[in-house]
Amino acid sequence: MTDRKGLRRLGRLGRLALLAAALTQAAPSAQTPGGPARQSPRNANYDIDVTLDPAARTLTGSEVITWRNLGTLAAYSVRVHLYWNAFRNTNSTWLKQRKLVGDDAFGDAPEGDFGYTEVATISVLNDDGTDRADLKPVLRYISPDDQNLDDRSLASAELPTPVQPGETLRLRITWKGRFPANFDRTGAIGNYFFVSQWFPKLGVFEAGGWTAHQFFANSEFFSDFGRYDVRMTVPTGWVLGATGVEQSRIDAGAGRTTHRYVQDDVHDFAWTTSPDFIERTARFEHSGLPPVEMRLLLQPEHAGFADRHFTGTAAALRYYGEWYGAYPYGHITIVDPAFQSDSGGMEYPTLFTGGTRWLSPRGSNDPEYVVLHEAGHQFWYGMVANNETERAWMDEGFNEYSDSRVQAEALQPNYFVQRFFGDFIPWQFRDIPLKRATDTNWMNTYRRMGDRDALSTPTFQLWPATHQAQSYHKTALMLHTLERKHTWEVMQKVLSTYFSRWQFKHPQPDDFFAVVEEVTGLPHAWFFDQVYRSSNKFDYGIERLDSEPVSSRGLSDGLTFEDRKSEGTYRTTVVVRRLEAGVFPVDVLVTFSNGEQVREAWDGRARWHAFTFDRPVKAVSAQVDPERVLLLDTNYTNNSRVMAPATEAAATKWSLRWMVWVQDLLMTYAFFV
Ligand SMILES: [Zn+2]
Repeated sequence: MTDRKGLRRLGRLGRLALLAAALTQAAPSAQTPGGPARQSPRNANYDIDVTLDPAARTLTGSEVITWRNLGTLAAYSVRVHLYWNAFRNTNSTWLKQRKLVGDDAFGDAPEGDFGYTEVATISVLNDDGTDRADLKPVLRYISPDDQNLDDRSLASAELPTPVQPGETLRLRITWKGRFPANFDRTGAIGNYFFVSQWFPKLGVFEAGGWTAHQFFANSEFFSDFGRYDVRMTVPTGWVLGATGVEQSRIDAGAGRTTHRYVQDDVHDFAWTTSPDFIERTARFEHSGLPPVEMRLLLQPEHAGFADRHFTGTAAALRYYGEWYGAYPYGHITIVDPAFQSDSGGMEYPTLFTGGTRWLSPRGSNDPEYVVLHEAGHQFWYGMVANNETERAWMDEGFNEYSDSRVQAEALQPNYFVQRFFGDFIPWQFRDIPLKRATDTNWMNTYRRMGDRDALSTPTFQLWPATHQAQSYHKTALMLHTLERKHTWEVMQKVLSTYFSRWQFKHPQPDDFFAVVEEVTGLPHAWFFDQVYRSSNKFDYGIERLDSEPVSSRGLSDGLTFEDRKSEGTYRTTVVVRRLEAGVFPVDVLVTFSNGEQVREAWDGRARWHAFTFDRPVKAVSAQVDPERVLLLDTNYTNNSRVMAPATEAAATKWSLRWMVWVQDLLMTYAFFV
């Protein structure tokens, strides 16, 4: 998802009378079942029929899950996520966790705003599709993460016979779900339906047990790869977008149409439908990369923004493709969510939601940024697919780091924008271009909250308000620090090696750390122990800088008192201090009045170190970490000292930097209130 807030206020100024153009009868896609080369193990395949009742805001679904045990141990049970039960009552783990940080969502919502998933039947099938065993009597809600008996977002059923390694289990589940109203990336508002985390979905069977968690406020998702073959029945004439490509469109009677979409090698499936979408298409082409058909489903009042959605999407496809590896699916769907739908800024396989503000100056990177970010998720979330419930940073942080890089490459200028009058009217500061390293990696959030949790804490156990600072910003700054230490060329090789080795698998943190060590040829445990396993902060500063004539007084040999002053030699003393627990090797650069510069390396381990230099001139300035390699340093303003007052130009520059930080602080604060 995106951490750029304000998407909850996607501007729609009155509904324009632009109705969606007539549905084009899509020709069956070139991507037919069994078509492209197999990219993933495809061990969790879903065959789903679902019908939307827009008036009742319900889904009625039936699915057959074909799951193969890839492990070396038998599975004695299955675990099924029923995510919409997070919206079932105010005691759900999701809503309780939100309340921890003062968000009383649903506190006074009417009954009809609550949502649910209710399993009607669940059974094990024989190969011929007939029922072998009814699991409904043994299906029970479980809450392994917090023992919350009111949470029903996860269920388990014992199997009558275990699934041995290599064996396949076929399950049929029928269910009914009601959309929560307008809530957290799924739900319905008016006749806009965004349908995500909507079907009973298996966990991941690892090391003899199921990795499957309840639905928490910050956690995202983790599933195995497979084929999704989904038939969605909606009112005829409504525009529908989904993971995959449309294979057929059949009249289902009673004014309804069934759209069939198929996609291989993905681990989730989302869709959306509304009569109001207008549709645009464009083709991404770039030499050395496979072409991608881009389909944009746009709110009518945002019709003028289409090129900016395509620009953001193409930027991700191009740069992530060049740097890390090609996007292999051949198509991507961009959804522009309805005003106040709260479904903006979220990624799903081959489909994502962006977000558009009605007033958005060019050069503000809005909506380009959120589109780029969500399109970028196709690579880390979509293909590499780590466990996002426990380690969201391996997706969000990698994506944040990468998209800030793409912004710098492809979306310049990128000016600071402040919004007024209820976050509505934008004012663009054309003298404040945003800097990738700090502004677009959200230095300010990290500075305030980077030490309130450790990155190694499972995401669902992070304090809800620090998830952003950890999973997004600290991780992005950590990767950026590695880049500054080793150069972008090395970092690009790290990430492309990691991407090609782990795509369509499920990497762990150590798998990434191992690639860093392999590509750089250097041990990095000292670094990841601090930034990943601890919550330590980093701050180095120059505590003292002075240059005085060299002198010495005292008793020398023979107990003769001597009082010596060197004419024309100054002793410069620089005291560098490590002000926080974090340790990082740093350079110290001292500049003298004759222009000479001396650079000293310091391992940064002690709490302080004094350097002295005897020179015929005084020093002008001293800097620790002059190139700002350690981007994780939380207070860069103490990194340098000058002898004389700074020039006016320098003061102006610093005041502008501070202004950005202060504004950023206010904007970040505004999100949490
Ligand atoms: Zn994201």
